[in-house]
Amino acid sequence: MKSKSAGQFGSKYGKKIRDKIIEVKRKSKKKYMCPACSRRAVRRVAAGVWICKKCGKKFASGAFEFRE
Ligand SMILES: [Zn+2]
Repeated sequence: MKSKSAGQFGSKYGKKIRDKIIEVKRKSKKKYMCPACSRRAVRRVAAGVWICKKCGKKFASGAFEFRE
């Protein structure tokens, strides 16, 4: 009984987490507009580290999503 209720909670929770992971992956793979050169070339190189491939500028931003 204990494990059953835990399982139900786990699957609900698991779906939310999976949706979140898909969302995060989508955002982290996306190219973002560079605030320095205005070209869509900012890519994530590490958690919270973003680099513009055009002008080479490095930005510290969100771990999975670029925010100016
Ligand atoms: Zn740039």
